[in-house]
Amino acid sequence: MTTVNAARLHAHIASLARFGALPGGGVTRSCWSPPHEEARAWLLGEIRAAGLTGWVDPAGNVFGGLGASGFSAATPVVLTGSHIDTVPEGGILDGALGVLAGLECLHAIREAGAAPRRPLVVAAWSDEEGRYGSLFGSRAFCGGLDPAAIPTMAAVDGERLVDAMARAGFDATKAPQAAAPKGAVHAYVELHIEQGPRLDEAGVPIAAVDSIVGVRRTRLIFSGQADHAGTTPMERRRDAFLAAADYSLRARDHIVAHGGGRSVTNIGVVSVHPGVSNIVPGRAELVHEMRSPDAEQLERLASACETLAREIGARRGIGVEIRRTSATTPVTCAPRVQAAVATACKGLGLECTTLYSAAGHDAQNLALVTDSGMLFIPSRGGRSHRVDETSDAEAIERGANVLLGALLDLAS
Ligand SMILES: [Zn+2]
Repeated sequence: MTTVNAARLHAHIASLARFGALPGGGVTRSCWSPPHEEARAWLLGEIRAAGLTGWVDPAGNVFGGLGASGFSAATPVVLTGSHIDTVPEGGILDGALGVLAGLECLHAIREAGAAPRRPLVVAAWSDEEGRYGSLFGSRAFCGGLDPAAIPTMAAVDGERLVDAMARAGFDATKAPQAAAPKGAVHAYVELHIEQGPRLDEAGVPIAAVDSIVGVRRTRLIFSGQADHAGTTPMERRRDAFLAAADYSLRARDHIVAHGGGRSVTNIGVVSVHPGVSNIVPGRAELVHEMRSPDAEQLERLASACETLAREIGARRGIGVEIRRTSATTPVTCAPRVQAAVATACKGLGLECTTLYSAAGHDAQNLALVTDSGMLFIPSRGGRSHRVDETSDAEAIERGANVLLGALLDLAS
């Protein structure tokens, strides 16, 4: 039976972790930044050293092909991969694992002289973490990038995508040309760390992912009346912050009560104007994010929260403006890919459970164009998007071997 070379995979993980390494551990490697571009060059070198064909598309996606040097409907490929960009002060496995395990699988298959019926390709999708645009590279590949939106795409610090890509040697206006021809991908399977505590706490080595959450972001603007904080009688105040605070607590309670245990909510952006201690807040803004693996439930919860905001505004004499700023739809993973993961686990004598993904992944874009799915390995302590994110060495090896089995199954 073909297996991965675990020592080589661990060496690759350690090598990639050097690009953007932080003194205290972890990495900062935003897409298009110098450390990311150095990592891209290194990855292309490793792809070629493994005897694969390496290429980069106009959206900055890096590919390594075994029996493929591009995408065409005539010879559909089985695709795997993930991303090599990270969040600021992120860990060394988020994304990197899926790319390097995919590379290792193709390398091992080539060395073993195995001849799968379909070509195999490993991808490193650009800007998965969405510094400039959420799941950018896979979105472009799947034909979902709006050319008209590109000039205005920018990071939170104001840096424009076009400038960041130009510095890295790319023309952002050409990124939509990365769209693959229809029918060019037979199936997609992505290995990722779970990034939460469920597998680690259950002591189960592998999960086949059955769905990926959709994410809604809504900006709520509460408008009251700025007033002197000393002289205005309490009962006459129209305090916008209090309405926002009331909403924050009650929206959370509603989602916990009606989210079926699978929906989560976060208010991570709050601003109060004019933002001084001796003025009653005249305006308060929130960004409310909610996630669910169930599309209907997500819509119901979002509508209920909007109604709640209006009720609170009416009761407190506060104007409420609601803007839905972004929305992704929950995605169901292909039964065929889930079965390939389960079968590979069985072949290796590994227990396998089913989980939904509480985080967004490139696999959700691929699901729009092909049979797409994922597998998770445990994250120790459920830690992720932090510098001490880690998984056991054996867990990584098991995950890579299950990915190998699933790829051979899908390519047969
Ligand atoms: Zn990731």
